[in-house]
Amino acid sequence: MLVNMKGMLDAANRDHYAIMAVNSVNMEMARAVIEAASEMRSPIILQMGRSQMAKLAHHEDILPMIRNMAERVDVPVCLNLDHGPDFQTEINAIHWGFTNLMIDASSLPFEENVRRTRIIVDMAHAKGISVEAELGHVGQAADGDGRTDDMFTNVAQAVEFVERTGVDALAVAIGTAHGKYPAGYVPKLDFDRLAELKAALRMPLVLHGGSGSGEENIRRAVAGGINKINVCTDAFHAAEVAMKAKWAEDPQTDYLNIMVTAEAAIKAFVKDYIALIGSANRYTFDFADNGSKE
Ligand SMILES: [Zn+2]
Repeated sequence: MLVNMKGMLDAANRDHYAIMAVNSVNMEMARAVIEAASEMRSPIILQMGRSQMAKLAHHEDILPMIRNMAERVDVPVCLNLDHGPDFQTEINAIHWGFTNLMIDASSLPFEENVRRTRIIVDMAHAKGISVEAELGHVGQAADGDGRTDDMFTNVAQAVEFVERTGVDALAVAIGTAHGKYPAGYVPKLDFDRLAELKAALRMPLVLHGGSGSGEENIRRAVAGGINKINVCTDAFHAAEVAMKAKWAEDPQTDYLNIMVTAEAAIKAFVKDYIALIGSANRYTFDFADNGSKE
């Protein structure tokens, strides 16, 4: 069933586990992710960003399809706009049927981030749509971001930010970065800061740039209070590895078979990840006043 993100993340916050948010950019990925969640009896979040929609995941094609797939399973499925950069994209996302919006004004000054986030929260909540925002800034692995605490989330600011904006979930910067880390590099996460943020906020926290962090970091992040983990690069990589292996094994493999291979690899990856972050068999929660869109 299609739901917003609040109910599923509040349950994860209460019971100390995390839910995957997978950037799902075509039919095969979306189906793999939803089937994996359904078989694991886990809530799941499918998401995409503006440039992914421009390149491949055209909203008019993929959003009705994902909504349809979501309605055919009985585990909760959320459809999230990843990194909404401006008001127009957020308003479009409301019209297109996203059930959660991320507003990312994290590279702007604090007051401007508060102002923009508050406006999106007011608009979205009026429509039963939940909102994630970001404070501190999770940058790009390719730029070496996340290696120093310059852009890490400040605890006192985070408390003020949540009070003034009313966001449902907060993405925090604790040492990860988006995209691929250089070979051999494993990010060092600031778990002390995460513990302070969780104690001060007691609300769902989100980890961006989780790909390539390694299982140990992910496990500790979940134990430390992360409730949503964004996964893009690692999911793409699972498909790429399987496709290359298939081609190596049989260079004549055709398009249909290569896509079948990719879909199966993503599904297996998502099932393993769900087991890692503890959301298996967590598919029921109280929908009475939160999650259900219907
Ligand atoms: Zn992100």
